[in-house]
Amino acid sequence: MSWRATTVCPVPVLDLPFARAAHDRAAHRRAEPGLVDDLRKERGTRVLVLRGSRVATVGQRVALFAPDDVAHLAVRTHLFLGEADGVAYLAAVLPEPASQPDLDSEAEPDLDVDWTGMRTLDVPDLEQGLAVEAIALAQWHAVHTHCPRCGTETEVTQAGWVRHCPADGSNHFPRTDPAVIMAITDPDDRLLLARGPQWDLGRRSVLAGFVEPGEGLEQAVVRETAEEVGIAVDPGSIEYRGSQSWPFPASLMLGFRARATTTRLVRQEDEIAEADWFTREEVATAVADGHLGLPGRASIARSLIEEWFGGSLEG
Ligand SMILES: [Zn+2]
Repeated sequence: MSWRATTVCPVPVLDLPFARAAHDRAAHRRAEPGLVDDLRKERGTRVLVLRGSRVATVGQRVALFAPDDVAHLAVRTHLFLGEADGVAYLAAVLPEPASQPDLDSEAEPDLDVDWTGMRTLDVPDLEQGLAVEAIALAQWHAVHTHCPRCGTETEVTQAGWVRHCPADGSNHFPRTDPAVIMAITDPDDRLLLARGPQWDLGRRSVLAGFVEPGEGLEQAVVRETAEEVGIAVDPGSIEYRGSQSWPFPASLMLGFRARATTTRLVRQEDEIAEADWFTREEVATAVADGHLGLPGRASIARSLIEEWFGGSLEG
């Protein structure tokens, strides 16, 4: 075992939109027999409604229904989200639309709502936290319907937190895929911004990639940076900056910043269409000119870029 001198991180972690919550998940209640059915009979319970990865909203707020108001919906799964101030919250997950146009055109009868994706949801912390939990859990259910051991269709138990295989008795728990995302700077403190091959021209972000089996987070930062742009990162410079769920479909984004020890960019062409080092002045000018498009405000990428920049950026 080797030791490396460490210091307490002097900078608080980033305040990230999807890392906010104001409720207690009350995990101890999930095993209560009939919990969901009982809560659906209580007038004080509040129910979020989901369709695919979108949440029902009314007037820029998450719609929180009394159980009777959504009792007529053809719900695929109910999920227990937790409690706040004595109120229990459920999510009612509707079948996913076949395609995006269906979602836009197919109104729910008697449910006058908009369907809002997480990326554009900007609501108080309680609603934000409930919505991200509900979407992440629902996304897992949507693609884990059968037992990975024997292929039998599994049953939802534990108020939506476990899928049980009736054939072999195995239990399956919601998965989250860790991904690292990193603001890499060179010795002149320029920031590395890259464009994926499918992105619009001008759109740039910091590098990111999934953590591989058997790998640590710092190893993933070093490996992904080397693979995607041929840059060596000083492992001792890697600093954790915060994390948030990114349920599209199941990622946990772990944010870092780190220093490169080399500057010559060698792109992995199927992953990276463009990559360059930017000074703060270049970023400010390109954003103002409309030549540089940044990741959305809900993303950890945006927070990492603005932290390096030293303030918020328009666009
Ligand atoms: Zn099975």
